[in-house]
Amino acid sequence: MKLSINTRFPMNDGLGIPALGLGVWQTPSGKQCEAAVLAALEAGYRHIDTAAIYGNEASVGAALHKSGIPRTEIFVTTKLWNEDHGNPTKAFDKSLKRLQLDYVDLYLMHFPVPERNQSWTVMEELHASGKARSIGVSNFTIRHLDELLARSKTIPAVNQVEFHPFLYQKELLEYCQSKKILIEAYSPLTHGQRLDDRRLQQIAGKYAKSTAQILIRRCLQHGLVVLPKSVRRERIEENSAVFDFEIKADDMTQLDSLNENLRTCWDPTDAP
Ligand code: NAP
Repeated sequence: MKLSINTRFPMNDGLGIPALGLGVWQTPSGKQCEAAVLAALEAGYRHIDTAAIYGNEASVGAALHKSGIPRTEIFVTTKLWNEDHGNPTKAFDKSLKRLQLDYVDLYLMHFPVPERNQSWTVMEELHASGKARSIGVSNFTIRHLDELLARSKTIPAVNQVEFHPFLYQKELLEYCQSKKILIEAYSPLTHGQRLDDRRLQQIAGKYAKSTAQILIRRCLQHGLVVLPKSVRRERIEENSAVFDFEIKADDMTQLDSLNENLRTCWDPTDAP
């Protein structure tokens, strides 16, 4: 498949998800968040990944409305925070209100907390109501997914997890592919921690691309949705200029060999 900024990957519920999205974790709410979202939409992104805990849903919503782009063309994700499992419907309605939307394209369980099974049932109801067009999970390991699939008739549309060469979650990727759960790559730029890795720079040099662009392109070539974050217009644009080249198979293999189980965010391995 020839990838472009308009590419949507199919999810198991029959809907499509734009392959490239802007992440807004740690993007300060207010003018900076609005500007980042507007810059992304101007650069051609049609997918924004926020969460209740990011504290910037209202700014994302304001930018979406300011853009004037039809709602149906933009894919918006938000997430159920860990402390809101007592009443997921209330938390969801608050997110919708902050976003000034009447539906989200994707509602994710942010983390596999112990109350996850009851909350998943509520998320299934939100899905059935049409207010969450697709539902999925985040930070789920194979163990958490196995348990959920054994109990539920709804297979999560996506599992959003940390993914970059320094954390190559191959087993999880193959498991998700076998269950038709799309992986979304979070912290694809290693949260900024490995962008100056010498081996990465060497590969980037071959393609006259930045290391950030190589990391983003690698996710896409693995068939993953990818969610780079930046607050700077020039980087937002740079991170979307990844559709005019292709990483060759031997370089993909080399990138895959850089795994060192680096977790830049959180490690859900032992989440009960
Ligand atoms: P990331 O996208 O891996 O990296 C962001 C960092 O890289 C920022 O410091 C950014 O700085 C810098 N950066 C961006 N583009 C760059 C470029 N072209 N060149 C050099 N530096 C660049 O980090 P992330 O925010 O951890 O992950 C991305 C998104 O994934 C989040 O925003 C969020 O939507 C999602 N996420 C989800 C979870 C979850 O639990 N579900 C966890 C983590 C992340 P500037 O902003 O200053 O440009």
